[in-house]
This record gives sequence, C-alpha cells and structure tokens, in this order.
Amino acid sequence: MGIAVDAASRGCKTILLEKYDFAKGTSSRSTKLVHGGVRYLQQGNLKLVMEALKERGLLKKNAPHLVKNQAFVIPNYKWWENPFYGIGLKVYDWMAGSLGFGPSQFLNKEETLALAPNLDEEDLRGGVLYHDGQFDDARLAIHLAMTAVDHGATILNYISVEGLMKADGNICGVKAKDSFDGKEYEIKAKVVINATGIFSDDIVKMDDKNAEPLITHSQGIHLVFDKEYLPSDTAIMIPRTDDGRVLFAVPWHNKIIVGTTDTLVSKASEEPVALKEEIEFLMQHVSRYLRKDPSYTDVRSVFAGLRPLVKSNSKITSAISRDHHIAISDSELISITGGKWTTYRKMAEDVMEIAVHKAGMSDKECVTKNLHIHGYKKTTDYTTPLYYYGSDEGAIQTMVKNNPALGELIHPALPYIKAEIIWAVQYELCMTVEDALARRTRALLLDAKAAIESAPVVAALMAKEMGKDELWIIEQINIFNSVAKNYLLNY
Ligand SMILES: Cc1cc2nc3c(=O)[nH]c(=O)nc-3n(C[C@H](O)[C@H](O)[C@H](O)COP(=O)(O)OP(=O)(O)OC[C@H]3O[C@@H](n4cnc5c(N)ncnc54)[C@H](O)[C@@H]3O)c2cc1C
Repeated sequence: MGIAVDAASRGCKTILLEKYDFAKGTSSRSTKLVHGGVRYLQQGNLKLVMEALKERGLLKKNAPHLVKNQAFVIPNYKWWENPFYGIGLKVYDWMAGSLGFGPSQFLNKEETLALAPNLDEEDLRGGVLYHDGQFDDARLAIHLAMTAVDHGATILNYISVEGLMKADGNICGVKAKDSFDGKEYEIKAKVVINATGIFSDDIVKMDDKNAEPLITHSQGIHLVFDKEYLPSDTAIMIPRTDDGRVLFAVPWHNKIIVGTTDTLVSKASEEPVALKEEIEFLMQHVSRYLRKDPSYTDVRSVFAGLRPLVKSNSKITSAISRDHHIAISDSELISITGGKWTTYRKMAEDVMEIAVHKAGMSDKECVTKNLHIHGYKKTTDYTTPLYYYGSDEGAIQTMVKNNPALGELIHPALPYIKAEIIWAVQYELCMTVEDALARRTRALLLDAKAAIESAPVVAALMAKEMGKDELWIIEQINIFNSVAKNYLLNY
C-alpha cells in the first residue's frame, strides 16, 4: 500500500492487486505501535532504531488523525533496572531529535503506580516513563489505499496474482484472477513489485520455481482485555520476558491489548491461529505483573499474525533482523520483504527508487516525506467516537443527520454505528462481513463474541446497500463465523 502511494504520488501509472482484503495479512494484526523499537536499541541495532524513529515522526506529521502519542511505563523491580532503562531511553530521546514524542522520565514507586495503578506493588522500586506512537493498523492501510486513489492509482481487493507474464525473459506484467467470479485478467506493467509479506515466496516461485526462499515466518499473538485491567491511558512495557522478548500492555480503542510472542512457524496462512502455549505464556506474564489478574474468561479476543522475516541462519526468530530487504531476480521481479509498519514509507521509497530507475523514469521523485495521508486533519480529538476517520468524520456525521437510524450501535458492547458500515461499503471497498468487522471496524479484535453477534445486522445492512439477496447474507454470516471462532478463547 505504501508503494502504491509512493508510485502514484510520483506520477507513475499504478495498480495494486490484493488477493483478499486490504490488510487481511499481517498488517491488521500488529501491536499497533509506531515505534523506534526499544528492543532493537537493547540489541544494539542503532541504524534500525534511528530510521524507525525518523519514520515515526514523519507518520505522526502526515497522519496525525491516526497516530497518537502513547506514554509507556517500564516498571522496575531490581535496583539496576531504573538506571539501565532510564539511560537507554535518554539515548532513545536523543536519537529521535526534533521528531521526538516527549522526554523520558525517571519515576519513583508512587509515580509509577499513579500511571499504572494495576501494577503488582510487591518489590516495585520505581519505573521509567517514555513515549512512542500508537495507531490503528488496518485503518491506516485503508487510508493509504485512499491516498493512492486520490493520486490516481487503481487499487483492487479480492484480485489475486496467479502468474507472471514474461517477454524476452523479463517480466512484463501479471496474470490475475477475481476471487469472487473467477474472471481472469492479464495486466501489462513496466515494473512488477512483489510486496506480499508472508506470501512473498509464492510470487518468487512464479518467477523461478527453483528460487531460494526469501523469508521465514514468526507468529506473534495478542490477547485483548477490558480496560479495567489497565485503568489508565499509560501503557506498560515489560522489557524482558522468560524468552528474552519485550511484552506490551497497551490501551487501544478502550480495551487493552497484550502481546506478543515469537514462534517460528513453517507455513504461511492468511488466518493464523494462536497456539495454546502462546496464550498460556501471555497469561502467565500478565499475572506476574498485575495486581488484579485477568482470567481466561476475561479474554475478549485473541488474534495472531505472522512476521515476514528476512531469512537468516538464526534459529531464534526474535534475533532475526527487522530490517527490510529488496531482492531483484534475473527476470527483474522486485521483491521487498521484512521491515515493519513504522518504516513502511521508507521501504516504499527504497523500492520505488529501484523501480523508477528500471522503468526509465528516474526523473519522478519521491514526495511522501511531506505527503498528507487521506483523512489528514491538523488537530484531532482522540476522545470523539469517529476520530479515526479524520477529515471524513463530518461526512459520516452527515449520514447520521440525514438518517438518524444509522446512528444506532451495531452491538451494545461495540463502539461502532451502522453508518460506518454503509460508509465502508460506499467509499472503502468493503466487500464482505469480515472486511466490515475485522478491518473497516475493529470489532473482531476488540470483542470476538460481540462481533459474531453483530454479523447478522452487518450482513443485512451490507446486503441492502450492495443489492445482495438472503442467500448472500447467510453465506456471509457462515464465512465470518468460521473465521471469528478462532478469535474466541475456548477455555
Ligand atoms: C505480531 C506482530 C506484531 C507487530 N507489531 C508491529 C508494531 O507494533 N509496529 C510495527 O511497526 N510493526 C509491527 N509488526 C510488523 C508489521 O505488522 C509488518 O511488518 C507489516 O504489517 C507487513 O506488511 P506487508 O505489507 O509486508 O505484509 P501483509 O500485511 O501480510 O500484506 C501482504 C498482502 O499480500 C497479499 N497477497 C498475498 N499473495 C497475493 C497474491 N498472490 N496476489 C495478490 N495479493 C497477495 C496478502 O493477502 C496480504 O494482504 C508486527 C508484526 C507482527 C506479526
């Protein structure tokens, strides 16, 4: 999506094909942080941290309606932790320079508990406060799609790339198939860029069936709880879990998301499923640090995502670099792998520099450092219910004004109104009930049971808007339920 924005805003004729829905892959399943990566600082990867901190600042500047400043507390239980993390975070502040989100601070025990009241008090010595960014990943993906369209790109979901076209040994386009009606298309292009995340090797193999794999997959899961388990706006960061990772508990859309894990998996899947041991790992760690422990029945949703990590010899996935990597095949397929959400703009710029050179369009320069993302609004009140639509918020409110029934909630336990579903169908290429409940709204991630209960209402609203029949409604509800059951915790 970032590449489509970069390409279209440079003035290149651009088409993006997505097999499922926008952000159906890893990009709707992140920890929702726009961050430099305190962990990478611990690992000594200064280049990655520096680049990510710069991109964090640019993203906040260009999409202030979606990226907000998030305060984090690192609780300290051992004497050396306060100076160790405190000094590390001063370096983090310094590296962010003028794009910093606010200075870090040493906290005593009382100050730490005031910011994170549910922290376990026993042996707590103090803490360190620092700042990073937080966002809604699928919403940013949708707004990037809309930004690309605003600049003339064609962006299509549910169109899968099934093969590559070649002339004189060089790639000159793709063969694509409509996932709904099976219709096939041949699309010519000067340059084809493979940015398919965990599925990158499938496209690489379409080019050369003997090609070495570019990536490995590492699964990370998150558990979602009600806000009472972190009754403040400050997130908690645990710098070292039993397997040497960091753990976050972050407020998000009035819930708390806790994650993540790092489990090597052998197969890419569009719907990865959380493993029992991953769930237990997170529950054990949450209980260790919180005074009021959540139980398994308090988990509102569990979601899993797969990291597309650049292949290395390391057996420990958390040690594999999060840097991005660009590969160009003999037939000039350009593949970009690795990286993270925070650095998507730089990834896009790097790959497009190669693409414009190959297409003989080197005069078309990157403009995304200062390009507003669709929905841009200078000031955002993050407490208003529809804030994440940015400048589109007013249009949705007008819908409700014209038809007050659209102001009704789709479910009493969810913050979403019916107008959002209609808006999604009309303006955001929302094609299925799952698109509506997992990525246009985030219902499935916030409360899986409530999302399942709202599927019939959402299906009926969509069917009316899209001219679909009763059979479509039944089919859509069934398909959604079979996906959503994996977000419920069956203990
Ligand atoms: C658990 C977890 C937590 C994370 N947390 C953070 C975080 O807090 N902050 C951060 O910056 N980063 C985070 N990341 C990293 C970040 O989410 C990923 O780096 C990023 O989302 C990858 O995006 P992508 O576009 O490469 O892949 P994807 O989002 O998977 O997109 C690839 C798309 O290609 C499509 N596709 C596949 N095959 C085809 C085909 N044949 N034809 C057409 N389309 C196809 C797929 O359907 C998919 O939608 C996290 C990752 C994980 C797993």
